[in-house]
Amino acid sequence: MREGLTSATSAASPVEIDGSHGEGGGQILRTSLALSMITGRPLVMRQIRAGRAKSGLRRQHLACVQAAARLCNAHVRGDEVGSKSLDFTPTQGVDAGFDAWASVIDIDIGSAGSTSLVVQTVLVPAIVSGRSVRATVHGGTHNPMAPPFEFLERVFLPHLRAMGADATLTLDRHGFATGSGSQASHDEPARYRGQLTMRVEPGALAPLEIVEACEVRARKAIAILARLPTHVADREFGVVRERLGFGMHECELREVPEGGPANVLMLEVEREGGARELVTGFGERGLRAEAVAERACDALAEYLAAGVPVGEHLADQLLLPFALAGSGRFRCAPLSRHATTNIETIQQFLDVAIRVEPIGGAVDVIVG
Ligand code: ATP
Repeated sequence: MREGLTSATSAASPVEIDGSHGEGGGQILRTSLALSMITGRPLVMRQIRAGRAKSGLRRQHLACVQAAARLCNAHVRGDEVGSKSLDFTPTQGVDAGFDAWASVIDIDIGSAGSTSLVVQTVLVPAIVSGRSVRATVHGGTHNPMAPPFEFLERVFLPHLRAMGADATLTLDRHGFATGSGSQASHDEPARYRGQLTMRVEPGALAPLEIVEACEVRARKAIAILARLPTHVADREFGVVRERLGFGMHECELREVPEGGPANVLMLEVEREGGARELVTGFGERGLRAEAVAERACDALAEYLAAGVPVGEHLADQLLLPFALAGSGRFRCAPLSRHATTNIETIQQFLDVAIRVEPIGGAVDVIVG
């Protein structure tokens, strides 16, 4: 057992995870991989993604397994597309700490599957390892059903930095999944693959408290266009200005030369005190630009009306770093099933109390 972490059972014993539990999706795999790496405990996983229409490992999930295995030199069985079982054993053994970890990895998803979800698997373990790690990941950078690159960079990372992490993410090349829905992006051959680079320097994860929904001090609408006319962004900005009162100076157009046709509209807010949220509308063939913007506006309006600092997706993503910090608290809207399943997965590995207390129409998630 690595120093400072309290395991749910004995250190070297395998952790058996039922992938059909709760939401039955890919998050159970990603969180389990991260915690197997961190605790050094072998992971034995069955019924992977049994709750999804196309169950088992898709390319994107396989890339998460490969990234985790290369980073911590794990022995793996069941690492193929379609596999519903996985045995993942970090080879360096539970007492060897993180010394045997690789410092540079390069992972190609081989499809437009989400690079952010690969980062979601290895970023927190890399931070906890206290080592310098660089990971380059090739695949989709802006996928429906996954954090767009900017969410990781502008929302998730600043929270990790506030906890003491020293990490950066660079968007080297955009990669768009052209199909709608997560299944399309898992399997679709990327006609133009994107790339991101994650760099982590020695740091730590200290407890953090985020309960105040302070005043919004900055906001921005960013429209990404690849091989689409600029009137698409102009129409989206028109809706955002009318619905949410954004000014022209708060609207930024990014035309990118890679891939497409693709359009992503992101609305970002930053509150006094540092809380942040970024919501996304994805353009789809046959969907009017105004409808894309309405979706993003609905999501931001819902976040602002909830009067909480932590949005729905950030809530499920903060659970792991907060659990590893050992204590902390954040306020968010009532948790999604995705998040409650994630809590249950974390508690299979770590002996950590995570309570969810109602407060008005919101909840406080209290760790420790
Ligand atoms: P699958 O089994 O298909 O892989 P999953 O359970 O892995 O499904 P989701 O439940 O869709 O996938 O969630 C994937 C992750 O992406 C979660 O951490 C979620 O918070 C995050 N996520 C999804 N959409 C967004 C978004 N628009 N902004 C930020 N994060 C997002």
